[in-house]
Amino acid sequence: MSAAPSSTSVLRRSLASSLLASLSTSSSSSSSSLVGAVGAVGAVGAVSAVGSPEEVFSLGHVIGSFSSASSSSVVPCVDPFSEKVIAHIANASTEDVNLAVQCAKAALPLWASTTKQMRQKALHAVADDIERQKDGLAAVETMDCGKPFEESVWDVEDVVTAFRYYADEAAQRDDIQRVDVGDEDYKCHIRKEPLGVVAAITPWNYPMLMAVWKVAPALAAGCTVVLKPSEHASLTCLLLGEIVRKHCPAGVLNVITGVGSISGAALASHPDVDKVSFTGSVPTGRAVAHAAAASAAGPKPANLELGGKSPSVVFADAITTMRIDDIAEWVLFGFAWTNGQICSATSRLLVQRPLYDALLDALRARIATIRACDPMETGCRIGPVVTRAQYEKVLAHVDRALADGAKIANPGGEHGTLGGNRRRPPSYPTSGFFVPPIMLTNVETTSAAWREEIFGPVVCVRAFDTEAEALALANDNVYGLASAVFTSDEGRADRFEKGIRAGIVWKQCSQPCFCQMPWGGYRSSGYGRDLGAQGLDNYLGQKSVVRYAAAHKPLDWYPAPQSKL
Ligand code: NAD
Repeated sequence: MSAAPSSTSVLRRSLASSLLASLSTSSSSSSSSLVGAVGAVGAVGAVSAVGSPEEVFSLGHVIGSFSSASSSSVVPCVDPFSEKVIAHIANASTEDVNLAVQCAKAALPLWASTTKQMRQKALHAVADDIERQKDGLAAVETMDCGKPFEESVWDVEDVVTAFRYYADEAAQRDDIQRVDVGDEDYKCHIRKEPLGVVAAITPWNYPMLMAVWKVAPALAAGCTVVLKPSEHASLTCLLLGEIVRKHCPAGVLNVITGVGSISGAALASHPDVDKVSFTGSVPTGRAVAHAAAASAAGPKPANLELGGKSPSVVFADAITTMRIDDIAEWVLFGFAWTNGQICSATSRLLVQRPLYDALLDALRARIATIRACDPMETGCRIGPVVTRAQYEKVLAHVDRALADGAKIANPGGEHGTLGGNRRRPPSYPTSGFFVPPIMLTNVETTSAAWREEIFGPVVCVRAFDTEAEALALANDNVYGLASAVFTSDEGRADRFEKGIRAGIVWKQCSQPCFCQMPWGGYRSSGYGRDLGAQGLDNYLGQKSVVRYAAAHKPLDWYPAPQSKL
């Protein structure tokens, strides 16, 4: 590392360490009246952890009442800043998966039959607990996946909001919706009820938040869950499992960790899973959908939240209502936030020609202000990407784009951006998987950099002349997750909103996300929606109930039998 860590960084790291150490002593006993009501299913196993920041934690799954693993196979967790192993998580076997599903199945009858008000109370208690531990959880997230600490704090705040939102949304909903079918002889209603056992399989870029986008609505709906977070960042999800277990019966949320091709695949096809909810890449999403469809118990429903290659479109008229510097900041935020590892990153920038040079200058000035350092430091705005493999993948994309004729438009050009050894800028820390924000120009629309999700802080920039050309470039995309438009002309913004093939449209901004608003995409970006009211519907089964209310009137379709008398 280039600089000695500050006292703030040391404090946050030790906060993270003591939270992880607490997993070794936590028990499943609790003050909640719901807790302990489900019988224990599972095998006892040890979770060991020690408190020193230099020591390596060893963490088991959260299954039913226990923290355990059936085998000694583990996956190392590497801090992407120090590049040191900070923990070992259990690598779930198919037996572990089965045990977790059986625990979720055993917990279902009780949890599904609790009143919505009881679930509301339990989920608010979960939210309170998470809120109390906000800084510690954020520090663990940063240590595990490298995102700047202050961004991890936002994530934990969003986690709290999601639990509260779904607790209240479910409690205020009527389970029964009357339907007038236009025939007085029939009284009809729709009953909504918990769908059953949910398998949630989630990625590493927002480890706790992406999990909670599924866990919170599923639990509020009365379902039980087996969560399989990414093997690259599972630590906050294990802590989440422990917190939920303090306030809800054991088995309501089970967390299994490990390599996706083993445990994720077994979970997606498990016959006792009633619903699969997946967030991740397109290839894995395809495998998960296949596995869910091919389950031995018959095809089961699956939601897929996948990747994106989303455009930011900046019209020249935008500067009549916004300062160019402010537009540049949104654009930068759109592709570099969370170190660029965002499904909705607006990583294609389309700028109307008269504004092109000025906007690039404003972006260069903004990029020059970015602080890349130990992500635990206050003020860090670029941390390391999650793993060495991700770092190599992003740089390989950039190298390929340059070989295809693209240019780096950053301050200092190629050398200033990638350094003499083409691995990192000269001013960046010497350890950690750092990739600086990179603006690529001269990018062909047929190139991989323009078409594929890079999942790092890299934006491809092109100029356009007309509105029709901008929309065509934006829509020339296999993905359709998000989009952003900057214009002072409301008619144009409205035409863009209607014309763009994407599930999310931002106007005069990029990336803000609210749990009241549905989240999801078109085309290869997946199907179904997380968040919003629909996020709760994902976990509710529907029964159409039809009552014949004219019992005195015979059906009179078949001839009446002849009387034998
Ligand atoms: P990934 O597809 O590699 O892994 C996602 C999860 O699937 C992990 O838990 C992994 O262990 C598991 N998995 C791997 N192989 C599996 C298999 N054969 N069967 C079942 N599960 C398996 O994705 P990632 O690299 O963790 O995350 C990055 C991707 O996630 C990006 O493409 C990003 O765009 C996407 N993402 C989408 C959204 C969204 O809301 N649309 C949000 C965040 C991330």
